This record gives sequence, C-alpha cells and structure tokens, in this order.
Amino acid sequence: MKTPVASVRVLVDTLLADEHVDVPKTREYLGLIASENLRLSRLIENFLTFSRLERNRQRFEFTDVDPTRAIEAAMSAHPGALSVLVAPDLPRVRADEDALVTVLRNLLDNAWKYTPDTPGGKRIAVRAYRENARVVFAVEDNGIGIAPREQKRIFRRFYQVDRRLVRDTGGCGLGLSIVEFIVHAHGGAVRVQSQPGHGSTFFVALPEAV
Ligand code: ADP
Repeated sequence: MKTPVASVRVLVDTLLADEHVDVPKTREYLGLIASENLRLSRLIENFLTFSRLERNRQRFEFTDVDPTRAIEAAMSAHPGALSVLVAPDLPRVRADEDALVTVLRNLLDNAWKYTPDTPGGKRIAVRAYRENARVVFAVEDNGIGIAPREQKRIFRRFYQVDRRLVRDTGGCGLGLSIVEFIVHAHGGAVRVQSQPGHGSTFFVALPEAV
C-alpha cells in the first residue's frame, strides 16, 4: 500500500515545485496520479472485503444475475485492449452481483498486472459460456504465466510468487484468496490453466439460475 501513496506524493511534490505550469506535463502527471489512486482504492477494497470475509460479516444477496452486465461492470476500469465473447442465450447465474463483479475485477486486474506491455501488446480476453448447468467465466492473458508448482499456492492469502514484481504492480496477495472464497460461497469452482512465459487462463464456474 506504501507504493501508490509514495508515488502520488512524489508526483504531487514535483508538480508543486514547478514555478510555471507546464500543461502537457501536468496532464501527464495527473493521469499517473489518477491511476495510482485507482490502485490504492483497489487495495483498500480488497483489504476491507478480506476482513469482512474473515470475520464472517459478508452477507451475500443472491439474485439472478446477467453475466454480461457483471462483465461490463468489472471491465469499467479497463477500457481498450480487451476482447469479450459472451455465448448467445447465456442463462443468468445465481449470485451476489457485487461479489461476482469483485471476482471478475480481481481476475482482470491480475491479467493486466502480470502481462508485460510488449510490442505485441497485452491480449486479455473474457469469455462466458455454458457448461453442465453452469456458467463459466474465463479470463485469459498472454502474460508471464504461473509455474505448475505455484498454481495451487496462489489462492492462499498473502501468497505471491514474486515479491519484487509485486512491489511494482502494487498487490498484496489477497485478490485470489478473495476470488476463491466468494466462488466457493456460491457453490462454484475456480481453476487456473497456465503455461509459464505464455499466459494464464482463470476459469470460474457458477451455478446457472433455475
Ligand atoms: P496480488 O496480485 O495482489 O499479489 P493475488 O492473490 O491476486 O495477489 O495473486 C497471487 C499471486 O498469483 C500474484 O502475486 C502472482 O504471483 C500470481 N498471479 C495471479 N494472477 C496471475 C496471472 N494472471 N498471471 C501470472 N501470475 C498471476
């Protein structure tokens, strides 16, 4: 949490130290401050969600949720470079809509964080389709991938494969433990398929609404 706070401080101090306002530079810095701010809000949101879940204070309100709507809400902070493919006539899922959005948003944040900005570009895709009376959400990236021995551990709270990397990306190792908790509370399942150096796909399967 210190990283985004420190970055914002440096950016603001630099702007304040300027005698004359340089408009393009100011705009650039404001853009950076805005994205640090977003990161910080996500971190705090995850801490709060985690502590509610830990204390058993999270009440889920189950309704019949439109998968497309949940995907769109989760994507709102990630415009661009993202493809979405929702199967036609997809049924609704039985879920707490906010919790489902949190799940998808955490997976998208990770896809974003762990995919370098290479010349080929980030390729992040969200798909939703039906399988055995369940709706499956798949979040796919072409990022750094996850070694087979790490693929179970990453769902543990505070577990991070590479702490140095995390200093730059600003996570705290709670995102996937929250994902797993919520998905299990919904009677669903989450799994990952990944090839180190090529990318990862996270699959979340939730019961369809009857
Ligand atoms: P955080 O991202 O805050 O560290 P998470 O619980 O969301 O915490 O993820 C735990 C760890 O799993 C990350 O630190 C990272 O090492 C790994 N990880 C998660 N998603 C991906 C992904 N899409 N690609 C590669 N590694 C990932």
